[in-house]
Amino acid sequence: MAELIDQIRDVVGDRGIVLHEDLLGRSAGFRHPNDTLQAKFLVRPANTDEVAKVLKLCNDAGQAVVSHGGLTGLVDGNIAARDEVILSMERMREIEEIDPASSSMTVQAGVTLQSVQEAADEAGFFFPLDLGGRGSATLGGNISTNAGGNRVVRYGMARDMVLGLEAVRADGTVLNSLNKIIKDNAGYNLKHMFIGSEGTLGVVTRLVLRLRPKPVSQETAFLAVDDFDKLPQLLNFCSGRSGGGLSAYEVMWKNYFELVVSRPGAAQVLPTDYPFYVLMEVIGGDATGDGERFENMLAAAMEEGLVVDAVVAKSEGERMAMWALRDDIESLDQWGPRIGFDVGLPIAEMPAYLEEIDKSIIAEWPDRKRAVFGHLGDGNLHITYSVGDNGPKTKKIIDDAVYLPLASRGGSVSAEHGIGLMKKAYLEVSRSGAEIELMKQLKSVMDPNNILNPGKIF
Ligand SMILES: Cc1cc2nc3c(=O)[nH]c(=O)nc-3n(C[C@H](O)[C@H](O)[C@H](O)COP(=O)(O)OP(=O)(O)OC[C@H]3O[C@@H](n4cnc5c(N)ncnc54)[C@H](O)[C@@H]3O)c2cc1C
Repeated sequence: MAELIDQIRDVVGDRGIVLHEDLLGRSAGFRHPNDTLQAKFLVRPANTDEVAKVLKLCNDAGQAVVSHGGLTGLVDGNIAARDEVILSMERMREIEEIDPASSSMTVQAGVTLQSVQEAADEAGFFFPLDLGGRGSATLGGNISTNAGGNRVVRYGMARDMVLGLEAVRADGTVLNSLNKIIKDNAGYNLKHMFIGSEGTLGVVTRLVLRLRPKPVSQETAFLAVDDFDKLPQLLNFCSGRSGGGLSAYEVMWKNYFELVVSRPGAAQVLPTDYPFYVLMEVIGGDATGDGERFENMLAAAMEEGLVVDAVVAKSEGERMAMWALRDDIESLDQWGPRIGFDVGLPIAEMPAYLEEIDKSIIAEWPDRKRAVFGHLGDGNLHITYSVGDNGPKTKKIIDDAVYLPLASRGGSVSAEHGIGLMKKAYLEVSRSGAEIELMKQLKSVMDPNNILNPGKIF
């Protein structure tokens, strides 16, 4: 019997295999840039048929497989151990079709998010998913983590942008539901099992993505708000007044704003005196009238007392400079070691929750530094703590302080990044024992030999 690697080589050819020693020249990705990939070897299939054959061989051999997209995942779901095999989608990057009649694009799962955005734009459409890792992140990875990003408030998460999906089960069975239709209630909609399951239930190979009309206008403003309670009021006010066009509602707490505007070259959009800042974006279909409507909406919000200061972007350059402030997470590096969190909870719970977690952390580290910002419209906060020593004990205390209070507040330990390895210990904060048991049953039906991303999520 030939070795597994030789059997796989027969399927994918020499080009389709990267040996262990050659992996040592490849970075382990965004979270571990200084580490190299660890695995027995890496397989790079060129199409679904090859993925199916490779998985069947691995399944028969009981060989664990970790799927790789662009390695931008933030919870270590993409980490492979020395005795595992990596299945990389790097040769499956084709945009197969853009179908204007059904406003859809069919792609292989290894295509990058940026390529999809650009292809949609060239075809006169818009693909709304957007996040900082767009240049490397793949659609397969976005779908497997059910990524969120900056426009969820208007278009939903990655899940909402998938019409059809093709996936391969652990035993090599291909499930092809590459539908182009929005409505499809023919029994269980199995595509949702693969979306957000972080490579544990199957390998996503192809997708039919839902495209949207290209916005004609995009109005952006930076706003100051003097009271937390006004943030949801402003959100509702602008959602209504913009006729559903509100596409981003990003909130920064004062200390994060102070930090990002203090960086060399940062746009000085507003004074730093206010407790909260909102980066707001509204899209529309009227190039001449939308700007005026947007400014009228903001003036009305100011009259209502919901906004105390505001600046509107007058050019694409100003718009980009505003987004650069929101995205300048590297500004936190000046604090030294830091731990970042992605949690979800009802907006009304946020102030009390932030106070509660901070009390326990300050008790341990009176000089702690903390920054908060987030996709507030989606109930999603990104919290960063820096307490100096970033050792494992420190991390456990801070993790407990941040995650455990979410249970009683109806919160989620992962708003948009997933569970992977990093949040495994806290899954039960957000999921009941019965839910976790059902997840495990699903896993054992889909992958009885536990070869797909074993040990991730639970
Ligand atoms: C700068 C930056 C900003 C980010 N901003 C956001 C944000 O705003 N919102 C947000 O939600 N996320 C954000 N992310 C994280 C985001 O979830 C990931 O970047 C992305 O969705 C993962 O895509 P990837 O191709 O890199 O997947 P990888 O990192 O390669 O893999 C991620 C997970 O998906 C699995 N996987 C990958 N491909 C497949 C496949 N074809 N089939 C089955 N499983 C697969 C892997 O096994 C792993 O569990 C950000 C990341 C970075 C680096």
